Amino acid sequence: MHPAIPRLLDLQTVDHHIAALRSELDTFPKRIQEADLKLSSARAALASAKEAHVNGQKERKKFELDVDQWKERARKYRDQSGAVKTNEAYKALLHEIANAEAEMAKAEDRQLEIMMAGEDVEHRVKNSEANLKQAEQSVAVERKDIQTQHAAKKKEFDAAMVEREKALVPIPDDMRLLYDRIAKRHNGTALALARDGQCRGCGMRVLPHIIQLLVQDSNDEEVYRCESCGLILYSLEPVVPHTLDADTSHAASASTT
Ligand SMILES: [Zn+2]
Repeated sequence: MHPAIPRLLDLQTVDHHIAALRSELDTFPKRIQEADLKLSSARAALASAKEAHVNGQKERKKFELDVDQWKERARKYRDQSGAVKTNEAYKALLHEIANAEAEMAKAEDRQLEIMMAGEDVEHRVKNSEANLKQAEQSVAVERKDIQTQHAAKKKEFDAAMVEREKALVPIPDDMRLLYDRIAKRHNGTALALARDGQCRGCGMRVLPHIIQLLVQDSNDEEVYRCESCGLILYSLEPVVPHTLDADTSHAASASTT
């Protein structure tokens, strides 16, 4: 096997870790947004309750004015009653007074209804305020929690980047370039295990003589790539060639290192 391959595998492990961390880090802005979204619905509920309150107040004012107007009209008619000369006119005036008083009573009823509804609205405003306060507190806790997690992930990410720099050191430039080129095209993966006559990257067959070349100790010049997917092939077999379960134990250690 080419001597750079174990180093490339180390690099690939680090790179996979970096990619996983990067995609985790990318979820944080959305998590913050989702937390804040809880606030905006609580804010909207409060705004609509306050609006209903303002509208109720306006309506109440309007009926207050109506009551005053009808009251004033009834008073005027009553004042005129002393000056009336005919029975007819007096009757008509009484009729006007009765009408004005009925209208006044109607406006008063309406005013009362609005006042009662206003109490409900005031309740709604108070509840919405309490809900918003609660939401603000829980979102603040949630935000802090997310930020703490984010900071920890970022630290892990920075450490992995340092690890990557170290992993790069023993790798010759031409191999770095090859690795980068292939990894870029294959979503961060440049190497594939050849096992049981198969490329584990794509599942296609690897010719037996290539497998042979991969496991030969004498081969330390060439890099073999899968004809189908183009990944750099490696085999773990030469490490412990004579044990039956060598493959599985090494596959496991390769995936954790
Ligand atoms: Zn392949």
